[in-house]
Amino acid sequence: DRQRLRGFANVQPVTPDGKKLELAANISSMKELEVALSSGAHGVGLFRTEFLYMDRQRFPREDEQFDVYRSVAERLDGKPLIIRTLDVGGDKQLDYFDLPEEDNPFLGYRAIRISLDRTDLFKTQLRAIVRASHYGQVKIMYPLISSVEEVRAANRLLKEVMQELRAEGLPFDEGLQTGIMIELPAAVQIADLLAEEVDFFSIGTNDLVQFTLAVDRMNEQISYMYDPFHPAILRMLRMTVEAAKSKGIKVGVCGEMASDLCALPIWLALDVDELSMSGHAILELKERLLRTCQQESQELFAELLRCRTSVDIHDKLKAYDASIQ
Ligand code: PEP
Ligand code: MG
Repeated sequence: DRQRLRGFANVQPVTPDGKKLELAANISSMKELEVALSSGAHGVGLFRTEFLYMDRQRFPREDEQFDVYRSVAERLDGKPLIIRTLDVGGDKQLDYFDLPEEDNPFLGYRAIRISLDRTDLFKTQLRAIVRASHYGQVKIMYPLISSVEEVRAANRLLKEVMQELRAEGLPFDEGLQTGIMIELPAAVQIADLLAEEVDFFSIGTNDLVQFTLAVDRMNEQISYMYDPFHPAILRMLRMTVEAAKSKGIKVGVCGEMASDLCALPIWLALDVDELSMSGHAILELKERLLRTCQQESQELFAELLRCRTSVDIHDKLKAYDASIQ
């Protein structure tokens, strides 16, 4: 079957009724980049930069980061590369970074909150990313955004960095795009306001499901409650995409739900621009895309929105799934 799927690597990702969807890869290493490229990924929709900071004794210097970002950008040869700024804290810890013990680490000092507090670390990373933008189509993405102020603060630091690089005569892409993860319910609720601050959204369903349903994504005892097809999630997704579209910015999805074959009609109905997933998942999803109509997906999604329980939603998706086998 792997062999059969391989044949789809160079096929355009388009539905039978002509809707094209960009299928990008989530990567956190150079090795994963190769898997992505061999699967014909449109680009990298989520570069998790945490690995650069892990398994070492100190924070990576600007040049060390720059070398990696530049290599990935060059290897992508003009295809888009969304680099997410550091997303540690919560479940991801660094040995050399003494983060305080917290009662609720997922709700604590993490991700963009650390970046906006430790602007020295953040600016080092921004400098490396911005410098790499000279070597490919690089975009910056901020994780765990909860307010307009955070986006503005991050973008202000980005402007400072660009000003410094200009003064130093270092080249970079002046049109570098910025985006944010939509992964908190608060971000969904103000998505229309956030959309005016950035060039794109990427929906992080892993955290969005966790925070919307108040279900720890690591806790196995309640994993049965971790339900991406909860009616509340469908409404969150619709609200986010509608906000992005009404403001004319691009919207993608980069959580696990992006590669769930059952969820594909949801993305087609909402008309998202991009799905980003593990490189290993791209071909199977593309094969499914080639036989899933957008029109049928829209009809199905209208029914899903009328469902009162996630069991009903799931049943309808499963039934559709079976009908196109
Ligand atoms: C997400 O939250 O959906 C996401 C893609 O980010 P991470 O899994 O790294 O938190
Ligand atoms: Mg996340």
